[in-house]
Amino acid sequence: MRKDFLVFGSPKVEEAEIQEVVDCLRSGWISTGPRVGKFQQMFADYVGSKYAVALNSCTAGLHLAMLAAGIQPGDEVITTPMTFAATANAIIHAGARPVFVDIELPAMNIDAQLIEKSITTKTKAVIPVHLCGRPCNMDHIMAIAKSNNLIVIEDAAHAVESEYNGKKIGTIGDITVFSFYVTKNLVTGEGGMITTDNDMYAEKVEAYGLHGMSRGAWKRYSDEGFKHYQVTYPGFKYNMMDIQAAMGIHQLKRLEKYLKRRNEIWQRYNEAFSEMPLQTPAPPEKGTKHACHLYTILLNLEELTVDRDTIQQALHEENIGTGIHFISLHLHPYYRNTYAYEADDFPKALYVSERTISLPLSAKLTDEDVADVIAAVKRVLARYHR
Ligand SMILES: *Cc1c(COP(=O)(O)O)cnc(C)c1O
Repeated sequence: MRKDFLVFGSPKVEEAEIQEVVDCLRSGWISTGPRVGKFQQMFADYVGSKYAVALNSCTAGLHLAMLAAGIQPGDEVITTPMTFAATANAIIHAGARPVFVDIELPAMNIDAQLIEKSITTKTKAVIPVHLCGRPCNMDHIMAIAKSNNLIVIEDAAHAVESEYNGKKIGTIGDITVFSFYVTKNLVTGEGGMITTDNDMYAEKVEAYGLHGMSRGAWKRYSDEGFKHYQVTYPGFKYNMMDIQAAMGIHQLKRLEKYLKRRNEIWQRYNEAFSEMPLQTPAPPEKGTKHACHLYTILLNLEELTVDRDTIQQALHEENIGTGIHFISLHLHPYYRNTYAYEADDFPKALYVSERTISLPLSAKLTDEDVADVIAAVKRVLARYHR
């Protein structure tokens, strides 16, 4: 058995970003400043969007995207229940109601065929989530949005590298939001980014994210001379610090290299698990690039004597940390009670919720780590095989 605990989602951090953070600290400018400006420019260039606005989290970005899009109390916003709570909470924080639409299998993303049925006169926007880095069916979603006058806000927390029919995620919907949380593909500790081609959305996100102050307000202490700011909206404190951007600048350069490594690990898992009582992730859809953010297996519970939580605990005892992405939101008390959802309202999301386990997939993993994960999964599943 493995000696030390393998932490799930432990980020790879290298010397260049450590040095950049130190330089940033010594520079005297540690909050929003020139490094944030540079990171935004690099990110916009990487994605191919007109604007990239850096924030202190993806959650903040989702909230501001709602506000920039004009989502208000009484509105409805369609999204998937197979996501992190932040996606739905952002809708609620704007005063609107999240309307869940079931996922499709094996992709596990929102089922575009079902969206239209959930559209009402109150529906203002849709938030597709590119789960695990697998792009949603964006052609279909954009067509529905166009014919129903909906704004498309993409939750791309898992999908920095993803592409759909030759387009990078971040250039398709009206606003796209990325996460740089510690477990994500690009890490800044905490952090997020919004991309958009829309001048008004970019301006609102930037202003609302910094107290609602007029644009470029952070420059007011620079050597350009003191400038008065004007508050145009009771905004929020969602700005990214230069300390965070210092990491992002270097992490961004290594995205494709890290993806290549995760892809290798992905292939090794696929080969190792082909004859096991589980389903490996479906291959990427034709014409798409999968960001390989999460390697999630679905346990064939019918072939096992115990439930998923017991398997996860057994892996923990083998010193292998895992994640659960996700327990469908409609099963959580807040959404279930507030919106009167029943467990089988979204049968496919329920199916995944009971079976999913995410295995370690960081570029930091050594070949020995990967072998340890495979051995542990094999041992545990053999123990509980019917
Ligand atoms: C991590 C995550 C978020 C939130 O990202 P933060 O940067 O931690 O705010 C939002 N949506 C999904 C799908 C996520 O996995």
